[in-house]
Amino acid sequence: MRLEHVHAVVTGGGSGIGAAVAQALAAEGARLTLVGRRRDALDAVAATLPGAHVAPADVADRAAVDAAFASARAAHGPISILINNAGVAPSAPFARVTAEAWRTTMAVNLDALFHCCQAALPDLLAAPAGRIVTVASTAGVKGYGYTAPYVASKHGAIGLMRALATEFAATPLTANAVCPGFTDTDIVGQAVANIQAKTGRSADEAIAELTRYNPQKRLIEPAEVAEAVLWLCLPASRSVTGQAVMVAGGEVM
Ligand code: NAP
Repeated sequence: MRLEHVHAVVTGGGSGIGAAVAQALAAEGARLTLVGRRRDALDAVAATLPGAHVAPADVADRAAVDAAFASARAAHGPISILINNAGVAPSAPFARVTAEAWRTTMAVNLDALFHCCQAALPDLLAAPAGRIVTVASTAGVKGYGYTAPYVASKHGAIGLMRALATEFAATPLTANAVCPGFTDTDIVGQAVANIQAKTGRSADEAIAELTRYNPQKRLIEPAEVAEAVLWLCLPASRSVTGQAVMVAGGEVM
């Protein structure tokens, strides 16, 4: 067990990639706190993990993050690993993106990283092997159409990891991003439904529209993303910081 008794907080831990990351970390002995807005989703994942704590919160709300992290510390002690995974992925032509949709996407995908990283920072710096891993996206390093707020927010997410990696390079804390291509989760389920509704295509055609970006022509599995996140969390990965690790079937950036 390479993370025995290490306390890891996973945002968006109630579904998809976050749930897979929580399972991968728990399998290495980590104690988990799961953060998200839907308590029932968090409880369902926590039920599969020994001793997992749930701390419902909207990660875009600093006061809620502070309260959730206080409850996390009360349950499992100082936080050594922070996984910034919560995210939203609306799609629309740029001309039709509302200011509200722009702000919501920035709030969840980028402002929340500021809140969570800063709220956990004293613990992360005190830990023998503090780790921040942000689940960004291939959209953090290249452009895609019809999803401008998402692309901009994910570029910002990688930028923040690079800034923190540089600022804290003289400490044991590392900060990295993992960048999945299209992955088989609810977010992609919503994108498929959106394509079907707007274009009249079948579900298979809509999935093919998304997997055309991946040279392996398939959706990534959440467990594959979780393996990359786990690797970055291990004490032995201490030399890897400020990186954006692609998990995208060979999609060239
Ligand atoms: P998902 O199952 O929809 O997960 C998103 C999670 O974020 C949910 O558990 C959701 O929980 C949580 N969340 C959303 N808004 C939140 C808020 N304001 N406060 C707290 N939690 C919030 O989809 P996923 O694919 O696993 O997404 C996880 C991450 O992977 C996201 O950052 C996404 O951008 C990234 N990603 C996904 C793909 C893909 O193709 N699936 C590709 C690249 C990157 P609640 O609704 O309960 O709050």
